[in-house]
Amino acid sequence: RASAAVRVPDASDIVSWWPRPGAASDKYTRGVVGVATGSATYPGAAVLSVTGALAGPTGMVRYAGSADREVLRQHPSVVAAKRVADAGRVQAWVCGSGLGTDDDARTELRSVLATSLPVLLDADALTLLVDGQHATDLRRDAPLVITPHDREFARLAGEAPGADRVGAACRLAAWINAVVLLKGDRTIVATPSGEVWANPTGSADLATAGSGDVLAGLLGSLLAAGVPAERAAVAAAYVHGLAGRRAGLDGPATSADVAAALRPVLADLL
Ligand code: AMP
Ligand code: MG
Repeated sequence: RASAAVRVPDASDIVSWWPRPGAASDKYTRGVVGVATGSATYPGAAVLSVTGALAGPTGMVRYAGSADREVLRQHPSVVAAKRVADAGRVQAWVCGSGLGTDDDARTELRSVLATSLPVLLDADALTLLVDGQHATDLRRDAPLVITPHDREFARLAGEAPGADRVGAACRLAAWINAVVLLKGDRTIVATPSGEVWANPTGSADLATAGSGDVLAGLLGSLLAAGVPAERAAVAAAYVHGLAGRRAGLDGPATSADVAAALRPVLADLL
């Protein structure tokens, strides 16, 4: 099958899709995003993904994991728990960045997948999927978004994306029934039904440790705010790319700089 026409979003798409609070909004109606990331080994991934989520449209971020103290030190507005099962009500989950791949990580991933909520899986959650333990769990009714870089994609798909990144992303999306955001210079978003987008705002400044964690949090916030998975993925990649460019203007950017740039980028855009 020939690849579908690749669409490129522009600023007006993102502006029209991005939820904004109104007079009748409260913190719950804006959406609550759950973030199950980080570990004792990688507390920074938790902080970065939560920072990304806080820049999104939701009214509350709940964190579940063992980096709760680090997260709360940086972000007192976050409601934290040690476990997904104890986190309270959320409208979407982000799981994976820096989670580790031990039994605890597996338990948390299973808890997230057992919900009937939209779920975004990244990084270590993708590694756990490849272990084959969760293939049946993937047959879920609620939306699933995965955000692999090339090596994660290769492990999931059994082969590298190759030159036809659009075709590769579409095939994986159809196969696992998930929205696939294939990261790169021109990030591709592909849906199970064959819709495909290429992000125009990429910035090589994003090629830095932890920048994917920031994207995961932001995307999860859009899902929790009720944005459909395809649009959430396209919009998050777009804004994340702009934040990379902006952070890079001041010299070499860290992923914390990228996260900090989300807010001013959104202020300009929206
Ligand atoms: P991760 O590898 O999970 O930290 O994610 C890296 C992030 O940086 C993704 O959003 C990529 O799309 C982005 N990225 C990596 N390398 C480049 C590049 N050379 N140009 C533009 N974006 C990039
Ligand atoms: Mg990553």
